[in-house]
Parts: sequence; structure tokens; C-alpha cells
Amino acid sequence: TLAKTRGNRYQFYVASVDNEIRERKRLERELSEALAMDQLQLVYQPQIDFRTGQVAGAEALLRWEHPEQGWISPEIFIPLAEKSDLIIAIGEWVLDRACAQLKVWHGMGFPELRMAVNLSAVQLKQTDLTDLVVRTLSKHQLPPQTLELEMTETGIMEDLQAAATALKAIKKSGVLLALDDFGTGYSSLSYLKQLPFDKIKIDKSFVQEITDSHDDSSIVRAIIQLGESLELQVIAEGVETAAHETYLIQHGCQEGQGYYYCKPVPDPLFIEYLRKSNQAA
Ligand code: C2E
Ligand code: MG
Ligand code: MG
Ligand code: MG
Repeated sequence: TLAKTRGNRYQFYVASVDNEIRERKRLERELSEALAMDQLQLVYQPQIDFRTGQVAGAEALLRWEHPEQGWISPEIFIPLAEKSDLIIAIGEWVLDRACAQLKVWHGMGFPELRMAVNLSAVQLKQTDLTDLVVRTLSKHQLPPQTLELEMTETGIMEDLQAAATALKAIKKSGVLLALDDFGTGYSSLSYLKQLPFDKIKIDKSFVQEITDSHDDSSIVRAIIQLGESLELQVIAEGVETAAHETYLIQHGCQEGQGYYYCKPVPDPLFIEYLRKSNQAA
């Protein structure tokens, strides 16, 4: 009977791993269908320039509404897409839609507005990434400096040499490069000098503890100083309160992004926010 129990447990284990794999495969297939059927959407979150208090740019963030499961977080489906290389097609779609959207906003009287698009480390290994960026900019007739590409520190560190080569090539096209989730990876600071970044984004986990945690507030100040000495712009993500903003401004951070200003929203709501805040057009 002991053997029998063991046998059952073993079967149970196999069945559950099997289910998990099947479930993942199904989600993968549905994601690919969602892309083909135009069921993915972009939302946009304003980035505020602290000197003017105005919207300087937007970050495009991907959303997927699954027909049965409802909204699935990009924290779940992006890693899934990265495993299957579907991320290449998704990444192209995101870049194209974000640029089309930016062109519309430029035409509405905000010609200097910038769009930040997240890139996966897998896309960095794509050989024609620079081509894709250049083609997409010219398709939508956008000045390169109005597009910013964000990459996470962890993604870059996976293959530093390959990333450095790719980033230098992309940089030549004139787009801006931002290092996302800064402070959360296992990086040495010396690599920062070797990579052509224009901006670092302080990870929201530090920003959210600014007013409560002595350690986190020192890290935030250190990152801002690092940005100053390496001549990099610094933006803080996850700004949720007036106190966060005050602290960041007092310590010389240039830009902020977070729920305190606006959560990521679809185009019409973004335009509404933009008009109110920049009082143009
Ligand atoms: P991320 O690029 O670091 O984006 C910032 C995340 O913080 C977003 O989560 C945003 O909604 C959230 N956020 C913004 N303000 C606040 C705030 O004040 N408080 C808190 N707690 N959170 C805030 P989201 O949209 O769920 O995206 C998660 C991650 O998924 C992104 O992190 C990015 O790494 C990835 N992602 C999203 N869209 C894309 C995409 O188009 N391509 C790729 N490769 N990755 C994407
Ligand atoms: Mg980002
Ligand atoms: Mg981030
Ligand atoms: Mg993140």
C-alpha cells in the first residue's frame, strides 16, 4: 500500500507539471492569436518634467485582455513571449503603434513630446533591430530624438558584450536610450560608462520607500548624484505622493512618473491629461 501511495503521488506530480506545460502552451498560442487579431492594446503614462511641471513624454505599456481570463499582466505575458520568440513580433507591433500614436500627438500641437518604448533583451539580439527602428521612424516621419527605448538593467547584464554592440548601433540612429529599473540588477557601475545611455530610471521600489526608509532614500540620492556625474538624465518611476515628488525635486531629480500624476491610460485620457497639464492647442 505504501508503494501504491507513492505511485499515486508520482502520477499526481507528473499530471500537474503536464498541466502547467499545457496551460503555458495554450496561453502562448492565445497570445499569438491576440497579436494577429489586434487584441493587444497600448496604454500611456505621462512623464513629468520637474522644471516646468509639464508632460515631457509618455511611456507606452502593453495590455492584453484575455477573452476568458480578463486582464493579464505584462509581468506574466512578456516573459512568456520572450520564451517563444513571439516577443520579436510583439515588439515590432508595439514600436509601430507607439510611433503612430506619437505622430498623432505631435500633430495636435505637441511636436516635442517624446515616446518611451520598452525593449526586451531578446530584441537586442535581433540582428536588424537598428534597421527596424530607423524604418519605423521614417514610416511615421518622426524625429529620432522624440523616441526613447527603455531596457532593463537585468536584460543588459545577461549578455553585456552583445548588448553594448547593439546599443551603440541603435544610438547612431539618434534615438534616446534609457536604463529601466535601475538599482535592481546585479550590475557593476563601471559598465554604465561603456554604454551609450542618455537616462536612468530609478526603480519604483526605491522611490516608494523614500519617505520611510533611510536606506532607500540614500540609494535614491546616490543614483541622482551618479546621473549628475555621468551626465545622465534621471527619472523616477513609481511616484505616488506629493512627498515623493518633493523629495525628488529637492535632491535634483529631473523627471517623475507615477500614479501621483496619472496611471497608464488609453489615448483619449492621455490627451485629456496632456491638454490640461501643458495648456496648449
Ligand atoms: P516597467 O517598464 O518598469 O514599467 C513600469 C511599471 O510600473 C508599469 O507596470 C506601470 O504600470 C507601473 N507603475 C507606474 N506608475 C506606478 C506607481 O506609481 N506605482 C506602482 N506601484 N506602479 C506604477 P506594467 O504596465 O504592469 O508593466 C510591467 C512591466 O512589463 C514593465 O515594467 C515592462 O518591463 C514590461 N512591459 C510592459 N509593456 C511592455 C512592452 O511593450 N514591451 C516589453 N518588452 N515589456 C513591456
Ligand atoms: Mg519601462
Ligand atoms: Mg521600470
Ligand atoms: Mg519593471
